[in-house]
Amino acid sequence: MTTSPARHHSAAPADLEEFGLFIDGQVVPAASGATFLSEDPYREAPWARIADAGTEDLERAVGSARRAFDGEWGACTGFERAQVLRTIGDTIRDNGDLLADLEVRDNGKLLREMRGQLESLPQYYYYFAGLADKLDGRTVPPLNPDYFAFTRREPIGVIGAITAWNSPLLLLTVKLAPLLAAGNTCVAKPSEHAPTSTLVLARLLHEAGLPAGVLNVVVGSDPMLGAALVEHPQIDKVAFTGSTATGARVSGSAGAHLKPATLELGGKSAQIVFSDADLDAAANGIVAGVFAAAGQTCMAGSRLIAHRSIFDRLVSTVVERAEAIRLGDPAQASTEMGPIANRAQYDKVLGLLEEAAAAGAKIECGGGPARGQGGLFVAPTVLTNVGPASRIVREEVFGPVLSACSFDTEQEALALANDTEFGLASAVWTKDIHRAHRLAAGLKVGVVWINSYRVVGPNMPVGGRGASGLGVENGVEVMHEYTAVKSVWVELTGGTRDPFTLGH
Ligand code: NAD
Repeated sequence: MTTSPARHHSAAPADLEEFGLFIDGQVVPAASGATFLSEDPYREAPWARIADAGTEDLERAVGSARRAFDGEWGACTGFERAQVLRTIGDTIRDNGDLLADLEVRDNGKLLREMRGQLESLPQYYYYFAGLADKLDGRTVPPLNPDYFAFTRREPIGVIGAITAWNSPLLLLTVKLAPLLAAGNTCVAKPSEHAPTSTLVLARLLHEAGLPAGVLNVVVGSDPMLGAALVEHPQIDKVAFTGSTATGARVSGSAGAHLKPATLELGGKSAQIVFSDADLDAAANGIVAGVFAAAGQTCMAGSRLIAHRSIFDRLVSTVVERAEAIRLGDPAQASTEMGPIANRAQYDKVLGLLEEAAAAGAKIECGGGPARGQGGLFVAPTVLTNVGPASRIVREEVFGPVLSACSFDTEQEALALANDTEFGLASAVWTKDIHRAHRLAAGLKVGVVWINSYRVVGPNMPVGGRGASGLGVENGVEVMHEYTAVKSVWVELTGGTRDPFTLGH
């Protein structure tokens, strides 16, 4: 795999930090002894040496999760699980600086974004602690009064959680908190590009009281470790976050093995700005949508669709703000945009920009590597004169690149926004409440923001449509993703019935 980190059997420089796998309550080396290196994208140099898991390690991790599910964890009540989840929230709160620092090093995430994220992550565990003891079923009045019928909500079993590199702790949390609340166990596989925060989190949670085997973490330089996890017969469900192309493979493989899969995939989200909008607020939301995290978020608002009457004014305001963004060391609290997280992604973004320019796109700002910066920096970019069929408009860039076009009527704006295979998120900027509601209903996406962008919380469901995914994360709705319903019929009379008919 060309995009995989290099595999090393020889000793690496002594100053590299070392990270083992986390299996059955212990930090362990890979069974093969192999390791691979993780690069700091700001310094463009290896900073950590990671145990490189293979199938033997995967086998041990799945076995441990299965034993925990069949044993101590599976026997816990919802009240006991709620207590563990609250402790997990407290542990993350108490170790925020350590966990934030790992993602700054591993994938160049901004320290200021991670500080905010580490304040909100415990809330996810507290919220799902509140649901752990409320997994009740229904009593159902049957057609035949000789029966008492009720349903039970039961955990599914061992969940394989596969995550992308752009926000490893958050992407794991939105899976881990509800799956634990429901009584499942987990084998997590973070991306080979940014695995350290997940490995350290598992150790911290075990030290804080999460029983051995409930959360195991494997990672390998070969992304096919993820494929092996999906196929493993002892994995009962897959919860995947990643690209649409990989998601389609995961979905196919899970389907072939008759197991459910939740898929949170890519996006090409639109920001629609009407002429009556507060343009200052809209420009701010557009910057937040596509330049925060250097555009490396599934929810990036990468398509601006603005009314013709305010198009030029809005574009020039966004350009002005984009050019003022402070690029630099992600570990500095004043930095507003860090590097692209790895070279493969950097090359992909630059390739798409070159192609857009060759196809006639007008570069309003940026358009290539950021001047005066080393490392993997792409300048915040705004493009106009982009055709609706061009790759830059149709494909997810996953970088700081905004493509802007104009519209004349509300119908045209809606049609442009929905003209994509993706369906993750959208924003509408207007002061007209009637129009806001019409658009919210008409947009074919899982999340709509009115006069805001990129706001999330544990109690609001997020789920993509079309090429953006399948199933849901967050909210009470996610509890159905991690539980299975069972119907129980109890005969009340003690009598017998005609054995050759279907009872009802
Ligand atoms: P990716 O698809 O390359 O990898 C995601 C994960 O899948 C990694 O852990 C990888 O090792 C693993 N993997 C690779 N091949 C696999 C296979 N055949 N079977 C099973 N697992 C396999 O994605 P990425 O580059 O790490 O992440 C970026 C993508 O993630 C973007 O498309 C982004 O939009 C998406 N994303 C979506 C959401 C969401 O909630 N919708 C959130 C964050 C990121």
